[in-house]
Formats: sequence, structure tokens, C-alpha cells
Amino acid sequence: QEQESSKTKLPESSSSSSAGLELLCVVRALLKKIKRRVMVGDKVLVGSIDWVDRRGMIENVFQRDNEILDPPVANVDQLLVLFSLDQPKVEPFLLTRFLVEAESTGIPLTLALNKIELVDGEAVSSWKARLRSWGYEPIFCSVETGHGLDLLAFKLRDQTTVIVGPSGVGKSSLINALRSNPRVCDSLVWFEPILGSKWFEDQRVGEVSTRSGRGKHTTRHVSLLPLSGGGYLADTPGFNQPSLLKVTKQSLAQTFPEIRRTVSANEPAKCSFNDCLHLGEPGCIMKGDWERYSYYIQLLDEIRIREEFQLRTF
Ligand code: GDP
Repeated sequence: QEQESSKTKLPESSSSSSAGLELLCVVRALLKKIKRRVMVGDKVLVGSIDWVDRRGMIENVFQRDNEILDPPVANVDQLLVLFSLDQPKVEPFLLTRFLVEAESTGIPLTLALNKIELVDGEAVSSWKARLRSWGYEPIFCSVETGHGLDLLAFKLRDQTTVIVGPSGVGKSSLINALRSNPRVCDSLVWFEPILGSKWFEDQRVGEVSTRSGRGKHTTRHVSLLPLSGGGYLADTPGFNQPSLLKVTKQSLAQTFPEIRRTVSANEPAKCSFNDCLHLGEPGCIMKGDWERYSYYIQLLDEIRIREEFQLRTF
């Protein structure tokens, strides 16, 4: 019965009725028993509310539209991949990794390039043309001067957006510029990760992890911050290394718009093999004449090695 009710759909009318209220909650034991995890971004039913101490109990988790795991957020409308044109400069392969990870979720993505005031017009035009050939129309912006922030705010309005990108590109600065109130972190759907959950482990500030290779004092946590124009932006410090763990050899091609475009432009003519990896197999309709072809091969190789290792270990 409990399992059944945990799949409850959220009633339309209750979606934002308690915005602005912050409660410290524990999760009902039964939910833990059926391994029903609460994630940042979840819409939940809160009961047993103590209004004086501002505490409550999560009685139920409403059905999710979607979830991403790295960073862990539920009910995401879009991903914002943020890089900077300078300090640090765009590294095309690193940008490709972020784009592949974002594309693999199936959630719409927006690409923005920050710090536009640090480069000249020629560099901007050149990146625009280059990224268009990859299949993207980036927003160029500067948190410093405010350039492009109106457009970004418009894109983010009334959406739950997860911002990702390497450190130093201006993610925190952008969040601060777009937040409704820089001091308060309050919303119905913002929760501290629940003690004892897998995600709480991710929150520790600590020594170098030999497994992940992340540096000392790396804090990994997610919080959902209300935006002044409506909607939420997930702050995800520490999640700046795309793991690509969800991407398989077969699904990688789907994360490159260049391949998707060529394949759909040639429909119904397809590659001869259904499981074609576009590596020059006989009858393959992809030629290796696109800029990111070498990145595609490199990622395919990385995923192949990981998959072979997993096969040997498990
Ligand atoms: P994060 O690591 O991605 O969260 O990056 P931060 O928001 O901490 O920003 C890193 C540095 O870039 C800080 O010194 C910011 O002041 C600076 N910064 C952010 N946006 C801009 C911008 O548009 N132009 C310039 N010149 N610096 C910026």
C-alpha cells in the first residue's frame, strides 16, 4: 500500500502553495524501508508540522518527471552548461564532455559562454560559428557587465534549471546575479540531503578521495535556489567532472548533434549496420570530416575501456 501511494501524482493546485517556507524534515520510516529516497527537487508531502520549531516529516514523495544523478536533482526542466571565453578559456574537449553528459540525460540544454568582455569580437564570432557547427546556439554573457543576463533570465524563468560547468567560469557569480534574495535559501522543494542517504556521503568536506580523485576540501552538495523571475536554479558546487557513467558505446552517437543531424537528414537511408558506431564500418553514412570526430573516437575509447573493465569486474 505504501509503495502504491509513493507513486502519487502531485495535485496541480498544491505545486507552489508553500514557497518561502523552510522546514527541517525527517523522512517517514516506511519510506526508508521501501528505499524511497528523497532528492533535491522532489515535491513531497509534509506532515506532523511543528510550526514553532519549523520541523516536519516527509510522508510521501510525489512521482518524478525525471531525475539526474550527477548532480542528484529531481524534476529538472533544463540544464545550463556554463563555460567562460577566458580565465579559464574554453577547452573544446572538456566542453564536449559536459555537453555529452548533459545530452545523455535527454533534458533540454542551454549553452552559455561567460566573461564575454574579456575577449574581442572576432573571438566571439569564431566561437559562435564553431559551436553552431557542433549544433549549438550559445548565449554569450558577462556577469561582470550584465551583458546577456536578460536573455539568460528569460530562458530560466519558471524553470528548474541545473547549472553545470568547470570551476572558475562564473557559476556562483551568475547564481548570485539571478537569485531573488542572496541571503535566504528557501523553498518548498529545497532540502538538506537526508542523513544516511547516499547523497549525504557526497556532502563531506574532506581529504582527497582516491576513488574519485577530487581534491581536498571539495564540497559536493546541491541546493535549489529561487530566482527573482520565478523558477529555481540548482547550485551544484563540486560537481564539475562529468563522469559519463550513463553513456554507453551505443548511446554516445545520440549525444552528438552532428551525428543526429546527419542521420536524420539521410532518412530513410541508414547505416548498413543497426549498431554502427560510425568508425568507418562498411555502409556507414557518417564521414569523419566534422570537427569533433576525434573527440567522439576518444570518448568511445574511454567508454569501451570502462565497459570492458566492468565486464571483467562484475
Ligand atoms: P564558479 O567556480 O564557476 O562558481 O566561478 P565563480 O562564480 O566563483 O567565479 C570565478 C571568478 O570569475 C570570480 O573571481 C568572479 O568574480 C569572476 N567572474 C565571474 N563572472 C565574470 C565575468 O563575467 N567577467 C569577469 N571578468 N570575471 C567574472
